[in-house]
Amino acid sequence: MPFINNDFINDLSNQVDIVDLINRRVPLKKAGKDYKACCPFHDEKTPSFTVVADKQYYHCFGCGENGSAIDFVMKYDHLNFTEAVEVVASESGISVVYDQNAQPVDPKIKRYRDLMQKVSEFYQYQLKNSPAKDKVVTYAKNRGITGKIAKRFDLGFAPPGWSGLFDHFKQDLEVVKDLVEMGLLVAKKDKQGEYYDRFRDRLMFPIHNAKGDVIAFGGRVLSEKDKPKYLNSPETPIFHKSKELYGLHHARKHSHSIDYILVVEGYMDVVALHQGGITSTVATLGTATTPQHLQTLSRTTDTIIFCFDGDRAGRAAAWKALQITLPIIKTGLVVKFLFLPDGEDPDTLVKKESLKDFEVRIEKAHTLSKFLFDHVKAELDFDTIEGKTLFIEKAKVLINQVTYDLYHQQLIEGVAQEVGQSVEQVKKVFDQQDQSSQMPSVDEPPMPHMGEHFSDFPPSEPIVVQGPNAKGLRSKMITLLLNYPSLAYENNTVEVRVRGLKKIDKKFEILLELVQSAQMIEEHDITQEELIKPFKNKNTIYNRLNQLCIMEPYLSETQAKEEFLGALYTCEKQQKNTQNKAFINNASTIEERKKVMENIQKGKLKKK
Ligand SMILES: [Zn+2]
Repeated sequence: MPFINNDFINDLSNQVDIVDLINRRVPLKKAGKDYKACCPFHDEKTPSFTVVADKQYYHCFGCGENGSAIDFVMKYDHLNFTEAVEVVASESGISVVYDQNAQPVDPKIKRYRDLMQKVSEFYQYQLKNSPAKDKVVTYAKNRGITGKIAKRFDLGFAPPGWSGLFDHFKQDLEVVKDLVEMGLLVAKKDKQGEYYDRFRDRLMFPIHNAKGDVIAFGGRVLSEKDKPKYLNSPETPIFHKSKELYGLHHARKHSHSIDYILVVEGYMDVVALHQGGITSTVATLGTATTPQHLQTLSRTTDTIIFCFDGDRAGRAAAWKALQITLPIIKTGLVVKFLFLPDGEDPDTLVKKESLKDFEVRIEKAHTLSKFLFDHVKAELDFDTIEGKTLFIEKAKVLINQVTYDLYHQQLIEGVAQEVGQSVEQVKKVFDQQDQSSQMPSVDEPPMPHMGEHFSDFPPSEPIVVQGPNAKGLRSKMITLLLNYPSLAYENNTVEVRVRGLKKIDKKFEILLELVQSAQMIEEHDITQEELIKPFKNKNTIYNRLNQLCIMEPYLSETQAKEEFLGALYTCEKQQKNTQNKAFINNASTIEERKKVMENIQKGKLKKK
């Protein structure tokens, strides 16, 4: 992913019309010099969301949300920083200036994406014009897919025969090579230079990334006797199954607000739910849910609902999802489980029932704790003393993976309630052997003083990061840094920025020390061992860092950098918001508040 030029970003705010940009999403009413609306970020009946045109910023007196056009688009459209800059620029008719000095984007990636778009258009054309289209059109009609929904998802048709796609693109050898790399053409064994189409006689679902680029395809057979029922593109340089979610782009585009995201099993389910009126839904792509999926989702919504068949396989898949969720769950994130009646999937059910009935099911989805307790109980004879003992032991192993303290505590209370013992008694059991078995969070217990070279900082102010993900973001940045140490020494502003965070919240001490550790060793190939050496005599932290060293190498260096800088930006923003809220709350009159807001904004502009 290319980096956007810094000067361009700083200048962008001067070139866009924030009123126009917000008005397109939230209708504004003129009120004196300013514009007002009911805040899109919190529930209210009288408008306290204000857009100040001449200062180019917005502010809500109710919830404290505030910022520039870019901040608004990030929050409202659920985009990361880079994506938001691109949207703001494009809606204002400005072309983005990318940084020439930044790591060059692999030109292949852009070529692949353009080609995938062309392939998608080819399949869409075939759906309308192929001599064999009757079969697929009948199939789609039988499944209840309307033309409107087919268009929304760019559905297509891979014609029967072995060379429909090949014949269309075969003039250009370079393109043929790329199609092989994308897994759409397969080289014939023992016949050099001959290829056949991977997808034949299938209803085609283009798979989009979150930004809306086509990055892969899935195809479904039209006749039940053909195999395999679903076929996906293989892993390619632009398609990583463990990362991508089918429908995320459409969920963001077609949902007014995303109160929850439903995670279903297949793309037919996503399409059918859209058809039924439920747009905030995604599907994994032939893999179980991964931690990366959860992280992506938690950036878009506060509530993730896993939806599975009620049969054995569905329950097993749900259990797997629960286990992946436990260490990742964090403040403000709610995870639920929805089990459908035996033999039903969302596709069949939403057609049988009304939208309302289905929404009732969603509302009644099991909480994570209920599913956890029920599942463990079902494995043992809970009515006996032995069963209850085993229940506590098994629950302990699971619950001790939760690093979100308050939730951890609540789950322990839940266990106590289930077995009818006091919380203290159960807590005692949970604390036993914890030194060896529990995975301590990097941030807990509170950090001891880390070394003399920190003493030149003022003691931390009584302002703490309060955003929902502060802790998760810290862990994320630490993990990224451990796996991509170049993040620290290739960008010389990182240290200054992390230092800034640490001034406000001491919990950033470990991150800062890691950044410095990476910078000291710089240039030569730094090992993770060297990187965490300074922590060697701090057992708990050292062990936790060691655990964080293991990370699936699913990110390119550029993506890692993007993720890291994004997390850093969010932390800074959260701290600023907290500070600003405090300032605003301290103001006693409306006039004073307005002054404070203006000063905040001035301060911001100065810093930029
Ligand atoms: Zn608000």
